[in-house]
Amino acid sequence: MPLYEFYCEKCRKEVSMTLTMREREKGEVACPTCGSRKLRPLVGPFFAKTSRKS
Ligand SMILES: [Zn+2]
Repeated sequence: MPLYEFYCEKCRKEVSMTLTMREREKGEVACPTCGSRKLRPLVGPFFAKTSRKS
């Protein structure tokens, strides 16, 4: 399964999760730490992962 990175607005930190496409499309994404669904995807499936500058 692909690995997705999200930013949890509740934890205020980045979280990484493996999701199926179906899970992601349905928006059934919850933070593994706090269970919040207020997650913003940091990396889309159509963006190549390059060196991150942050
Ligand atoms: Zn969280």
